[in-house]
Amino acid sequence: MSKLADLVRNIPNWPKPGIQFKDITTLLRDPEGLRLAVEDLSRPFQGAGVDLVLGTEARGFLFAPAIALHLGAGCILARKPGKLPWRTVSQSYQLEYGTDCLELHEDAIQPGQRVLLVDDLLATGGTILAATALVHRLGGVVAGYAFLVELSFLPGREKLGSAPVHSLIQYATEE
Ligand code: AMP
Repeated sequence: MSKLADLVRNIPNWPKPGIQFKDITTLLRDPEGLRLAVEDLSRPFQGAGVDLVLGTEARGFLFAPAIALHLGAGCILARKPGKLPWRTVSQSYQLEYGTDCLELHEDAIQPGQRVLLVDDLLATGGTILAATALVHRLGGVVAGYAFLVELSFLPGREKLGSAPVHSLIQYATEE
């Protein structure tokens, strides 16, 4: 945990005052850190029957395909509106100010397939809850959640139901 935590750079007051931005580019550029992160994110879900790994736009895309390779699963993308070329299902969600939306191709998941949802960071849980709703709407089963970073002082994890939630680095305070 500390090796990985040391590789995440904290940027105070970015992109706006009061936000402590967790910059993972410093981890991604470190060969050992990148390998450790992908292995540690994948490990709890080995043998869990994961069919698909879902990455959320944009930084979930950085880990989902690598985890899928480790698990022998496929990879699907939850994207911002208007980015996917085929027919989609959409789910809007609340931001601090305003709303945002995620979409999946309507044939991304076959009913009953087991889906691991991946993002770089869990904060309020709004993003990953919207992705969860899309999985359910397509008849998928949530096999679990994997995050590189969890802001555990925010109530994200509690919103995610009974599926296993795995995070590699936790921040218990807004530091
Ligand atoms: P949330 O929907 O509140 O759980 O926010 C999670 C999403 O917002 C993830 O896709 C993150 O990439 C991004 N995010 C939220 N807070 C931060 C932060 N402090 N540092 C970096 N990314 C963040």
